[in-house]
Order: sequence, then C-alpha cells, then structure tokens
Amino acid sequence: MTRQPMGHRSDEFRVYIQRIVTRLLPLFGASIPPMLFTTSGTGGLEASIINTVKPGQKVLAVRAGMFGDRFAEIARTFGADVYDLNLPWGQAVDPDELRKHLRSAGPFHAVLLTHNESSTGVLHPIEELARIIHKESNALILVDAVSSVGATPMRMDDWGIDVVVTASQKALMSPPGIAVIAAGRRAFEVAAVSGSRRFFLDFHRMKAAIEDGTTTYTPAISVILGMDAALSLIEKEGLENVYRRHSNIVRKCRRGLTDAGLECFVNDSIASPTITSVLLPMDHPATLVRKQLETEHGVLLSQGRGDWKERMLRIGHMGNVTVEDINHVIVALGQVISK
Ligand SMILES: *Cc1c(COP(=O)(O)O)cnc(C)c1O
Repeated sequence: MTRQPMGHRSDEFRVYIQRIVTRLLPLFGASIPPMLFTTSGTGGLEASIINTVKPGQKVLAVRAGMFGDRFAEIARTFGADVYDLNLPWGQAVDPDELRKHLRSAGPFHAVLLTHNESSTGVLHPIEELARIIHKESNALILVDAVSSVGATPMRMDDWGIDVVVTASQKALMSPPGIAVIAAGRRAFEVAAVSGSRRFFLDFHRMKAAIEDGTTTYTPAISVILGMDAALSLIEKEGLENVYRRHSNIVRKCRRGLTDAGLECFVNDSIASPTITSVLLPMDHPATLVRKQLETEHGVLLSQGRGDWKERMLRIGHMGNVTVEDINHVIVALGQVISK
C-alpha cells in the first residue's frame, strides 16, 4: 500500500483487479465477479438502490437497528415507496412476521435486509428470510452485508440474493475506501431497464470495466492493493478456518463477559460473529468506560447507538483478531468496571 500507485489503466493494475475479483467470489458465494466502487459501505447501499429501484416502486425495508434504518432512508431519499417493518433492537427478524407483511402489504418490487446488524450485534437468518421472500413474491433481495462478508458464510447464488454490499474496512481488513458489490443476473437485468438516474455508481458501466480488468474511473488504488494483501491472508488461513475463528471468538467473548458478571445484549443463537454488544451496570456510563479503556488499557470499543448509547459497549472482532486480543479486552473491561 505504501508504494507509488500504478496507473489504473496499466497492465499491472489489470492483473490485480482480475485476481482480486476472482478471489472475492467465494466470500460472496457469487458467480459474477463483484464490482469495486470507490466509496464507503453507505455509498454501496446507495448504489444498490439506484440501480435496481425506480422512484415510486414499492420496497419492504426490514429494520432492526441503525443500519436497517439507514437502508430504508436511502430508498426513501430516492423516491421509493417504502413500507417499514420495524423490529425491536436486539432481536433477529422473525420469519413468520416477515411472511405476514409480505402477504398483507405486498407485492413488493424489492426487500431490503441487513445481514449483520452492527448496531445491535445480531446476525439475521438471511438464508431463511430469502427462502420466504422467494416463496411469497418475486421481489428482488438487496442485502447490507457490510459487517459480515469475509467473517461468516454468504452464499448469494444458492440463497437467491440479488445484491450483496460490503466494504473494504470491515472483515476485509483493509482501510476504508472501497465498496464491494456483488450483483446477480436478475439485478443486472433490472438495472439495464430501471432504477434512478445515476452515473458514477452505475452497475453496468462498472461491470464492463471490471471485465476489462479496471474500474470505471480512478479508484482508491492503494486500498485495492491492501485488499489484495488481505485476501492473501484469508486464503493462507483458509476461508472455512476464518469463519471458524470468528465463531470461536464470539463464543469465548460472550463466555468471558458473562464470567465477568456482565450481560450480553442478544441471545447466543443470533449472536453476531463480528460484533458483541454488552450491557454495562447502571453506574458505569459507556462514554466514561470507553474513555478509560482507551487511555488506561489501549482498548478502543464502540458505544451503543440510539437509546443504548450509555448502556452498551460494542466489541468489534472481525478480521485479524485472536482469542488473546479478546481476552485482553475482557480483562481490561473487568478492571474498569470494578473500580
Ligand atoms: C459499517 C457499516 C455500514 C456503513 O459503512 P460506511 O463504510 O461507514 O458507509 C453499513 N452497514 C453496516 C451493517 C455496517 O456495519
């Protein structure tokens, strides 16, 4: 990443792009090479909307946290007729509830789902939800998988998911700057005739560029080189081993927190492989605990969002994280709250 960037139309860069999009396929369970847009994860979500949803089209937004809310807001901003399915924070989407709304409020042109809701630390049962959506409707399925791809299985082709969005800075272990979007055949068909006005974030332009071993316009070349190195780490460890390491870490993390007398925010069965949300005792506001962890122990955690800002801390354990790292965090947290 520290080298002088090569030109994005050079033969050398072409080798990188072709190699990276091929290596990304198993992380998405996709057969069409993913697109690399120079933007953040939110930019990727916006791209998924403007390429597949026309103003006025009816969209079901499944919301169970801050990122579900954001996806709905983007669709609304671009004129979609958004129907909100609001679910309590900290719970997984109930398949029966989803079925009920698909029947009573449909038909929908698209359904917006969050795979791993980072604001609550819940991994939603995407495979099962997609099965129900297909059974009940012809709706496109767009998935925010920003904090899950690369840490837990995603099989978009097998599960019938049309667009999956992730970003370089989460489980892909790279600096921020690139949104990685995998779209299926149906999404490209819809994008060819539909969607909102767009230029920079156009799927077909980017697909053609990627097939040619480049990107539409000048990308964050250094970040792309970083992703190539990160993919080498994933391949060296083995993708299945990476998934296993994340499952193991979340189990250890939750056990450690419980042993320290703390309460995890969500149930074991829906616990995120990449983020563990933990409730703090009432007399320990999260802003203070967070600050002490950072200054006294060199541990940087996130706080809860919305109503949970002072009651919750969120421990990120995606990408290059070990059980030892998590143990260090739990020991530090135990020391801060026992003071
Ligand atoms: C981080 C994250 C995003 C937003 O990504 P940005 O790169 O900050 O725009 C979206 N969705 C989820 C689930 C995330 O964890």
